[in-house]
Order: sequence, then structure tokens, then C-alpha cells
Amino acid sequence: MSNQGNRQTPQTGRLYQFKLVLLGESAVGKSSLVLRFVKDQFDDYRESTIGAAFLTQTIGLDNNTTVKFEIWDTAGQERYKSSLEKAKSWVKELQRQADPNIVIALAGNKSDLSARRVIDTEEAKAYADDTGLLFFETSAKTATNVNELFTSIARKMPLDQLAANS
Ligand code: GDP
Repeated sequence: MSNQGNRQTPQTGRLYQFKLVLLGESAVGKSSLVLRFVKDQFDDYRESTIGAAFLTQTIGLDNNTTVKFEIWDTAGQERYKSSLEKAKSWVKELQRQADPNIVIALAGNKSDLSARRVIDTEEAKAYADDTGLLFFETSAKTATNVNELFTSIARKMPLDQLAANS
């Protein structure tokens, strides 16, 4: 998920900087997605995040445009009836209170464990479509759709609007 940022103009092209915050139940794989995206690594035995971790990563888009994400990986939130139900409650809250330019993406992680997965993909996708969210089935373990997830968020950021306003 990401919210409004600010723009800097480097020597070549344009650099847009945004905050990106990961929300989700404990152990769904938030830190693992960040680790895969930023360092292209995966750790089967990683400890849960304590407090919040902060990393940055840049994505080059077309037209000489670079998006830099300041990534805030939050500590595991409490267990809920289902991680999709919990995600829905956050989305509702964000759509009510956050900047209207916020870009929200829903990631159904651990797609490599499809036989054991709890979330019904069709339900999650239908919900994302109805609510105007990006949706990806990801696997931090196999690196499936991880870059696609973050790149799609970068592409959906309101870059034109920021450029026009500055
Ligand atoms: P967080 O609490 O949401 O940050 O979750 P973590 O990133 O700490 O991951 C929790 C556990 O799930 C760890 O043991 C990870 O190795 C594992 N995990 C994370 N992503 C995946 C994935 O895509 N596939 C599989 N099989 N395991 C994963």
C-alpha cells in the first residue's frame, strides 16, 4: 500500500518518492515480500518483525521516471478470523481516512502453497475488483509476482498529477 509522496528532480529523469506500508496479519509474509523485493532473498526461518523495519527500493519506469519507495514493514498485527477479513477492515478504514490518492494493493501471498492456502482466490479477486484495488497472488519464496506487485503500485501512483501540481 502506498500513499501520497513528493517529487524531486534529479539530473536525469524524474524521481518520485512515496511511502509504502505493509499491513497484514502476523506471519502472512509481509517481511518476506519486502526481503524478496529489496534483496531478492528468501529465508524459511526468518523471525517475525519486531517493531517496524524501514527499507528503500527504487523502480525504474518508462519515460525516464524512477519511483522510490520508503517501505515500512509493520510488526505482525493480531490474528483475525481470516486475513482477508482483516484486510477488508483496513481497506475500509484507509478509503475513509487516508489521502484520496492512496494506492492500495491486495496480495494473496504464499501462492506456492496453493493446496494449503486458506484464502479463496476468486473471493479475494472479486473483492479487489469491486473495491478498485490491485490484486496479485504472490510468493515471496518462489519470487512469483513480487516485482509485478510493487511495479504495478509504482505505475498506479498519481505521477502526472504530482508533476502538474509542482
Ligand atoms: P510477516 O509476519 O507477515 O512479516 O511474515 P514473515 O515474512 O515473517 O513470514 C512468516 C513465515 O512465512 C516465515 O516462516 C516465512 O519464511 C514464510 N513465508 C513468507 N512468505 C512465504 C511464501 O511466499 N511461501 C512460503 N511457502 N512461505 C512463506
